[in-house]
Amino acid sequence: VRQIDVAIIGAGIAGASLAAAIGNAATVLLIEGESHPGYHSTGRSAAFWSETYGGPVVQPLTTASGPMLAAGGFLHPRRELHIADDAGEAMLDRFAAEFDGSGVVLEPFDRARLEQLLPGLRGGWRRGLMEPSCTDIDVAALHAASLRTARTAGAELSCDAGVLAIERVGGGWRIETRAGTINAAILVNAAGAWASPIARMAGAAAIPITPMRRTIVQLAVDPAPPADLPLVMDVAGRFYFKAEAGGRLWLSPHDETPVPAQDVAPEEIDVAIAIHRLEQVVDWRIVRRERAWAGLRSFAPDRAPVYGFDGRAPGFFWCAGQGGFGIQTAPAAAAMVAALLLGRALPDALSGVDPGLYAPTRFG
Ligand SMILES: Cc1cc2nc3c(=O)[nH]c(=O)nc-3n(C[C@H](O)[C@H](O)[C@H](O)COP(=O)(O)OP(=O)(O)OC[C@H]3O[C@@H](n4cnc5c(N)ncnc54)[C@H](O)[C@@H]3O)c2cc1C
Repeated sequence: VRQIDVAIIGAGIAGASLAAAIGNAATVLLIEGESHPGYHSTGRSAAFWSETYGGPVVQPLTTASGPMLAAGGFLHPRRELHIADDAGEAMLDRFAAEFDGSGVVLEPFDRARLEQLLPGLRGGWRRGLMEPSCTDIDVAALHAASLRTARTAGAELSCDAGVLAIERVGGGWRIETRAGTINAAILVNAAGAWASPIARMAGAAAIPITPMRRTIVQLAVDPAPPADLPLVMDVAGRFYFKAEAGGRLWLSPHDETPVPAQDVAPEEIDVAIAIHRLEQVVDWRIVRRERAWAGLRSFAPDRAPVYGFDGRAPGFFWCAGQGGFGIQTAPAAAAMVAALLLGRALPDALSGVDPGLYAPTRFG
């Protein structure tokens, strides 16, 4: 039986960036059930970095990740336009107020300025907020770079190694996987949609991490969206869309359907709802539906991520509940988690981050 310091279950962006952050300081094994590690949520995202996405509790992690992502060359300019229909205008004001004093720039846009960026905008959408800092993330490159850094630091990746059983043995963990048994001093739960089942196997706190299905459809539209179209976000949470290479559009109905953890596929009804909602916003003709996919966004009850040692099971560390913001927060979250896990001080780059907000012990 192999003996290591830290076993990380899940090699998506959460597990991979943590392994990159601690590989030099401990013997680390990344345990991944699939044959390639980006197969679940990490490979299915909409790939944006938005400081407001996920709300004010998530924002410090997103903001702190920005310079780290930029330094790696993973960010590309996008901008974000939050728009409101008549019924949504009060929501727009509340949304702006939530980020007062946060340092995030939200610039009011009137109808004329909306029209400049969104040709074909239908009536009834009169106000918006421009969030200029929003960017695209090259998720595949970021994930690959994290895995590479982890490997260079000495961490190993074991794929096709689904975890079957976890047992507390002599002050550590015995982890039985499809690829053999491992003994580890610390067990990190970075299993995404499977975080609650992993915690159950280990006898850790019963924090419900609920996987929710989110759908994206890629469309060809006429006229093609402007190349510099910002990410367009409904302030009432009914859709977002952004332009992709080749004049295509990525569109989501912002669905959040709770489902059991699984290899999730899109439902026809959600694609139809997405297209219907787009048609209420712009007069573009849908030429072709090119592809659709769905992925799981997994949330704790308060929708904040869960990072820290379990209150019940010693040496069990939570790295879960990254919802719809797990990519954009990944570098700062990994740096914070590395410090918590190794008992070190938080690096200066995380001065705006309060780890207490994310502690698993907040659930009692
Ligand atoms: C449609 C969609 C759009 C999104 N858009 C964005 C966005 O624009 N920006 C953003 O920041 N975030 C976005 N997200 C959220 C982001 O994708 C997730 O927060 C992030 O990928 C979570 O990473 P993870 O490593 O926790 O999960 P995952 O990538 O799912 O990784 C968990 C891994 O654990 C493995 N695992 C599970 N159980 C076991 C087991 N028993 N044994 C071994 N391995 C196991 C799984 O195989 C999986 O590879 C989006 C998500 C979706 C679905």
